Amino acid sequence: MVDENSLELIKERTDIVEIVGQYVKLRKRGLNFLGLCPFHNEKTPSFVVSPDKKIFHCFGCGTGGNVFSFLMKIDGLSFIDTVKLLAEKSGIELNDDQMMNFEKDDRENGFALLSKIKDAYHQQLDHEEAKNYIKDRGLDKETIDNFQLGYSSKANCDELLGFDVKDIKDDLLDIGIGIDSKGKIKDRFYKRFMFPIIDLQGRTLGFGGRIISGEGAKYVNSPETRFYSKSNVLYGLNMAKKYIRENNGQLILVEGYMDAISVFQSGIKNIAAALGTAVTPQQFNLIKRFVKLLYMCFDNDDAGKNAMYRVNDVLQDPEVEVKVIGLKDCKDPDDFIKKYGLDSFRKQMIEAITYKEFLIDHSIKVHGHSMESSKMAVEDKSRVLKELKSILRFENDIIKNVYIAMIASKLNIDLDQVKGYFFTYNTLSISKKKDYKIDKGSKDKFFKLEEDVLSILLSHVSLRNEFLGNFSVDDFIDMEHKKIFALIVNNPEKDVQYLCDLVAGHKIVSICMKINFANPQLFLQEAVESLKKRNNREKVADLKKQIIELEKIGDFDKLMCLNQQLSELIKNK
Ligand SMILES: [Zn+2]
Repeated sequence: MVDENSLELIKERTDIVEIVGQYVKLRKRGLNFLGLCPFHNEKTPSFVVSPDKKIFHCFGCGTGGNVFSFLMKIDGLSFIDTVKLLAEKSGIELNDDQMMNFEKDDRENGFALLSKIKDAYHQQLDHEEAKNYIKDRGLDKETIDNFQLGYSSKANCDELLGFDVKDIKDDLLDIGIGIDSKGKIKDRFYKRFMFPIIDLQGRTLGFGGRIISGEGAKYVNSPETRFYSKSNVLYGLNMAKKYIRENNGQLILVEGYMDAISVFQSGIKNIAAALGTAVTPQQFNLIKRFVKLLYMCFDNDDAGKNAMYRVNDVLQDPEVEVKVIGLKDCKDPDDFIKKYGLDSFRKQMIEAITYKEFLIDHSIKVHGHSMESSKMAVEDKSRVLKELKSILRFENDIIKNVYIAMIASKLNIDLDQVKGYFFTYNTLSISKKKDYKIDKGSKDKFFKLEEDVLSILLSHVSLRNEFLGNFSVDDFIDMEHKKIFALIVNNPEKDVQYLCDLVAGHKIVSICMKINFANPQLFLQEAVESLKKRNNREKVADLKKQIIELEKIGDFDKLMCLNQQLSELIKNK
C-alpha cells in the first residue's frame, strides 16, 4: 500500500509554486500565485496556485489538484514516477520497503486472484441448477458473457481453483472469498449464481451471489475488503460507460443486479445498479463523471421509494439533472419491460417526472397516509410543507417558485400562503420597516464571516472535531455556504483536497484559498457567537414582521404563540 506518511512528507517538503513555476509563468497575487492555465487555452489568467494549501486550481477549466496530480497531468507521469521524482527532489530517501510499496499496488495479486475466481465461476455455468436459472430469467449467451456471470458449484476453494490453496490461504481470506473452516478454505458463495462486480478499469473487485436452491439469504455480497467497498462502486457501470456517452450522458440507475442485466439485455444499455437501497456520495461522484441526466428507477415499492427519497441530499449537483421513472403497476424495471415492452419503457423515460416532483409526491403520500389532498389533515399538510421547505432550501428562487406552485396545487392550499411559508426569511431584506432591515454593509460582513469560517473548517481538519458541532447549516445564510458546510459535516475526516475534488464548483476552491488565520481556533470561537447572534437577530426581525401581519388579520392564537417565541429569543440574546 502507498505509505501515507511519506507522501505527506514529500508534499510538505515540496514547493508547489516552484514545481508549477517550471511550466507556468506565475505572478504573486495576494497569498496565491496566478498564471495562464497550461491545461486549457486562455488569454486572461485563471490558474491559481496556493503555496499554503499546496493545491492548484483553474477557474477556467476546473482542473485542480496537488503537486502530484499536477505533474502526472502535465508530464503524463505515473503516480509512482511522480512520487520518486519528488522524493528525490526534496531529499527524502525512500527505503527499499517503501520503494517496493510504491513500485506496485500491492493489491495486484489479489485482483489477479479475484479475476481467476471469476473465470472459474464462469466455467461452471453448465451446472443443471445454473442452467435452469439462466433459462428462467431468459438470459442469453451474449449477456452472460458480457457480465461474466457464473456459478459456484464447489464447496471448497481448492476444488474451485483446481489446486491446493494452502499457500494462498491468507490471500483467499483477504479478498473476501474464502472462509476458514476447520483447516478447509470454503467458498463463501457455494451454490450461488454469481455476479462479478467489476470496476471501470476492468478489475474484479468482488461478487454478489444469488441463492438459486436451498436455504439462506437471497443475496450474499463480498464483505468490505481492500478490494471491494460497496459504497464506492456501481454495478454495471463498466459496461454502461460507453452507452452513457452514446446517449448524451444519460444513465438509468436501478437497484439490483438482475434489474441492470435484464434491461441491458433488452436493449437499453446505459444502465447501472446501486446495489443496495441508497446512493452514496462516492457513487454519485462516479456518476457525475459521465452523467448529465440521471434516471432513478428503483423498485416500485415502499422500500424502493423511500430509498430514492432518502438520497435527496446526495443527489445534489447543478450539473446533473435527476428524474424518476414511473413503473405503473410493475414491481421493477425488468418486470415492466417484460409486461409492456421496451417502447413503453422508453415512453416512461420521456414522461419521467423530475426528482423534485417525486420528492413532493412522496412526502405528500407518506404524511397524508396515501389520502387525497382534499381529505388530508391540516397538521399533515403542515408536516409536508416543513419537510419540503427543507428539501428545496438549496434551490434558487425561480426553481423554488415553480415547485411552490406545484406544492400548492397538489396540497390544495392557497399559493400565497405556501409562498409566504417558503420565503419567510428572504422577504426580510426587502422589508421597508427600518428597525428590522438588515443593511447591505452588515450583509457583506456576514457573508465574509461565513466564508472565513468555512475556509478554516476546510483547511483545518484537526479543528473540526471541536468546532463542527457548534455550527449548523442554519447558521449559514448563503446557499453555497450551506452546501459547503453540509459537505464538511458529511466528510469530517477528509482534507481540503478531497473535498474540492468531491464538488466540481469553483466556490469551494476560492474559499479554501482564502487567507490564513493567525489563530483559527480563536477566530472560530468568536465566529460561532457572531453567527448565532446574527441569526437570532434575523429570527427576531422575522417574528416581529409576522406579528405585524397577524395583528392585521387578527389571528390571536397564533399571535400569542409568536409573542412567546419572541420574548424567549430576546431573553436568550
Ligand atoms: Zn484551465
